[in-house]
Amino acid sequence: MLEADVKDGRAGLPAYAIEVGTEPLARPTRNSVGGWPFLDEGQEWPECFCGERMALFFQLDIPTDLEPFAGDHLLVFHCRAHNDASEPEFTDDRLVPRYWDAPQTPYPRPFWRVMLQRHATLPAAQPEPSLHALPLTLRPFEDSPDARGLGAQAFKVGGTPSWAQDPEFYRCACGADLVYLCQVPEGMEFAVRPGQPEQSYSLRADTYWLFLGNEVYLLACPAHCDPAAVWPVNQN
Ligand SMILES: [Zn+2]
Ligand SMILES: [Zn+2]
Repeated sequence: MLEADVKDGRAGLPAYAIEVGTEPLARPTRNSVGGWPFLDEGQEWPECFCGERMALFFQLDIPTDLEPFAGDHLLVFHCRAHNDASEPEFTDDRLVPRYWDAPQTPYPRPFWRVMLQRHATLPAAQPEPSLHALPLTLRPFEDSPDARGLGAQAFKVGGTPSWAQDPEFYRCACGADLVYLCQVPEGMEFAVRPGQPEQSYSLRADTYWLFLGNEVYLLACPAHCDPAAVWPVNQN
């Protein structure tokens, strides 16, 4: 495999299936649905423009063979009240400057925050209140592209995206081409604790969705120009 092929995503990265455990977590764990976010010192728990603290959907350590993100800590936050699809905005051939904070028509800012933290050593004092805290396990698997060049439709980090529609490629505002990192399959439900408010537009009262239940492909900036320089592609 040529290094150039890995860099532009054609040949795909090593792949890990992400498995959600069933035994609720009682203490901070780095790979989790919900739970205690591990954030860099000084990094606040993200808030939506609506003032709600965003829900931590999941977090995990990127395995050490997944360059250029090896060892980073990935966290996916999304507002409960705002549930929609992402819509990229461009300046010339790039995503707009600070696209992670830029308006998302009709919203003044994005309703999600995806972060790669590089010095996330300590957990937050409190866990995510709305989602059940469950462990995640990463299991290596062979994500060989099929005849159309698509990988498995799975909850996974690395590997090859299983594009539901045409492949999408983006250039970061910094000029680097974003690199596919992680996929959340279409319709994946995240179990909610009892007594939490329902999510708008979701199918069930006791689960939340990311991006209206679209399939989500996280493309991240290999230059690490900002901890939030990750674009969530939505397809279905
Ligand atoms: Zn919101
Ligand atoms: Zn960048």
